[in-house]
Amino acid sequence: MALEKYQKKRKFSKTPEPKAQAKIKSQSRFVVQKHSASHLHYDFRLELPDKIIKGPVVLKSWAVPKGIPTIAGVKHLAVAVEDHPVAYINFAGVIPKGNYGAGLVEILDKGKFKLLEHTSKSLKFELKGKKLRGVYVLTQFTAQKKNWLVFKVKK
Ligand code: MN
Repeated sequence: MALEKYQKKRKFSKTPEPKAQAKIKSQSRFVVQKHSASHLHYDFRLELPDKIIKGPVVLKSWAVPKGIPTIAGVKHLAVAVEDHPVAYINFAGVIPKGNYGAGLVEILDKGKFKLLEHTSKSLKFELKGKKLRGVYVLTQFTAQKKNWLVFKVKK
């Protein structure tokens, strides 16, 4: 998906969000951003290569209406959205009215993660945030590719 979709949806003269950048540092960080847009949701982003194992590093992104569960076994819907540039990991602020995703963005948690297992349809990783800690799975629905489930597993 790379970053074309991200760029197309935004007018960078009108929103404080970061532009896509070519230069990126490969690390494994995650962020959860509370996004008070027309529908409140939580954006969960993992710093990973575009194609998970190769490609330019981006923030693979999911919109999670109910947020990332903290209790093992509780499954929440996570809707895949366009890749975001790595610089977005630090973004907090107000996206002005009339712009894509208008509303307040707040960082709820941020930290490192360790990718434990992956296929094209499933990721298993350990979150090392301040609030979110432990082993999680993100798994894609077979029928609807945009829809994933995120849940915490017991160690
Ligand atoms: Mn959002």
